[in-house]
Amino acid sequence: MASPRDGENHSSSGERLAASNAAEEQANGSAKVEGVKKHENIVPKAPENEYYEIRAVNSKGYGCFALKPIKIGTRILADSPLLIVREAEYLLVDIQAEFDKLSATDQALYYTLHSAHNQDPNNWPKGIHPTVLGRERQRIQEQHNARTGKDANLISIFQTNCMEKDGGAAVFPNAARFNHSCNPNACFAWNSAIQKETIHAIQDIAEGEQITLAYCDTTHDKATRLWELKHYGFVCDCRACADGSDPTSFAAKSAARRYRMMELQQETRMFRGKFLEVGAQTEGVVAKLLEFAKLMNEEGDRTFRTATVYLDIALVCEHKGDLKFAKGAAQKALQIIMDCAGPDFPEIKDYAGVVKRIKDKIQVKEKEGKEANGP
Ligand SMILES: [Zn+2]
Repeated sequence: MASPRDGENHSSSGERLAASNAAEEQANGSAKVEGVKKHENIVPKAPENEYYEIRAVNSKGYGCFALKPIKIGTRILADSPLLIVREAEYLLVDIQAEFDKLSATDQALYYTLHSAHNQDPNNWPKGIHPTVLGRERQRIQEQHNARTGKDANLISIFQTNCMEKDGGAAVFPNAARFNHSCNPNACFAWNSAIQKETIHAIQDIAEGEQITLAYCDTTHDKATRLWELKHYGFVCDCRACADGSDPTSFAAKSAARRYRMMELQQETRMFRGKFLEVGAQTEGVVAKLLEFAKLMNEEGDRTFRTATVYLDIALVCEHKGDLKFAKGAAQKALQIIMDCAGPDFPEIKDYAGVVKRIKDKIQVKEKEGKEANGP
């Protein structure tokens, strides 16, 4: 199952795929997993680049650290897929078929990636609901076996590292080395124009700072994030997940912001995307979207989701005839998506198109105004 999408119509952020279904997973049986090789414990290395290197960290094995200050919007990495599976709801046979096509070197590289196996079965549901049958039942069973199995295998590595790609999933050997934070300073996206997974800085990153991505939906509350991240076999210790009992702490403020963001997401859902025209005719929608954008900015969340919020503000204002405000919001949306994915990202032209259309409308209006006033 894909990790929770953000529910935005225009979002194409490549969200990392969480391993499998939530409530109904099963603990019995051991899978016959073919192609199992010993999970090699090799110190990973970053590809030759100017921005980061891989260093050991205490709790997470290895992480990617900035070699120099990195400005927001910088493309830190563009990574080619190692193994692609077309099916988001993949089975072992799907991975095995692709794995068999790899060279011996690439197969060995695959097995150097982190694997979240060896998990306590007691942390997972004990049975699959009897109504779940066929392929889906097999998939849930395979995923469960992989994460609770003693050794790394094709599935445990895939589910720990895969990222969404064109409705399926892929493993990117270098992008997979970046650790998670619920308050990340970088984001990833599949760029179909260059056929690479990109990682861009979404905040200014200091020299020596760890570069992090969000594997889960960052608007979710801590308990939900904990569940989502369990699929990757770790408990997050980022500053948003720290003890929030002190109301002045970042964790407490962050939890309050995320709670309000979820409320706003619910409240504006029926006024966005294909319902934008309704939004334009409904009192208070822009104010709610602006509050949403403000909270995301305070959270440091300058991601695709933030871009879509500004884009919707622009479209609603354009519809209402408030072109000046619409232009500002559209330019902001364009800037954010540029920072997240780079100028060669295919959707950039859609965002740029909205900016141009609104600017053209302003020009026409100004011209009409001048003509009306006469020489
Ligand atoms: Zn966290």
